[in-house]
Amino acid sequence: MESSLARPSRLRKNERRYGRRRKDRDLIKSVEEVFDSFTLGHMRRLEWRGVIWELKGVISSGKEARVYWARSRNGEDLAVKIYLSATAEFRHGIRKYILGDPRFENIPKNNFRKLIYEWTRKEFRNLKRMYRAGVRVPKPIAFSGNVLVMDFIGEKGYRAPLLIEVVDELDNKEIEDIYKEIAYQLQKIVCGARLVHADLSEFNIMVWKGVPWIIDVSQAVEHTHPLAGEFLERDIANLTRFFSRYTDLDLADEMEAVRGCLLHE
Ligand code: ATP
Ligand code: MN
Repeated sequence: MESSLARPSRLRKNERRYGRRRKDRDLIKSVEEVFDSFTLGHMRRLEWRGVIWELKGVISSGKEARVYWARSRNGEDLAVKIYLSATAEFRHGIRKYILGDPRFENIPKNNFRKLIYEWTRKEFRNLKRMYRAGVRVPKPIAFSGNVLVMDFIGEKGYRAPLLIEVVDELDNKEIEDIYKEIAYQLQKIVCGARLVHADLSEFNIMVWKGVPWIIDVSQAVEHTHPLAGEFLERDIANLTRFFSRYTDLDLADEMEAVRGCLLHE
């Protein structure tokens, strides 16, 4: 008769820490989704590490990435962003964001998986750097391969609305407050984290508890990137154009101050 004491201690320790190893079907229980074997492997790794307990449902399904609502062991809501494929369009699209970045230069041309892993790592690092600089972004939690885990913005599995989705429900004062707050977040990104978001718009800002949250930071670049200035101008133009439809508030001085941080390297 086998006694549990006969088990290797490492296994017992893991069981104590994470509970009995569950079948994969538990992790992806309510998600009728077929992941490729690599993605599944990274999901399992994050499960073993005690990061993800249960995958609940799809929040967003885009061309390159899918975002899921998940739960941690303690029942906290998580957002899990999974890069699924490296289409030709994706490979072409990310080219200008990885110019001169040595991490990407060493990837063989046909190693699409490596490219996606590096892209995921880039998003995680950008998120961390912004989080540490006090930018209001989802807290980065972990990543493995093409899977990135962060705090969930929203509650009970309902994600917060994007700025574009909620703007019509806001009154003038709320819109102006959010605009000012976004300008402040932009300042923290550029002057504090010393990054340029490079895809900042009403589609990558969520509004939760009356304040803006910046998301989708994979393409953010350092100040030394050859196109950093161009990207910052585009971010500023996006915001200025969007808010000019709703308010006369002029934040040109604030934007100019942000530009100053990029110029004075
Ligand atoms: P897509 O190609 O689908 O636009 P994307 O690369 O733009 O993907 P994101 O913008 O990071 O990816 O995320 C897609 C969507 O998932 C967001 O618009 C938002 O609705 C939701 N989302 C992203 N991060 C979170 C989060 N931390 N909490 C809740 N919802 C999130
Ligand atoms: Mn996005």
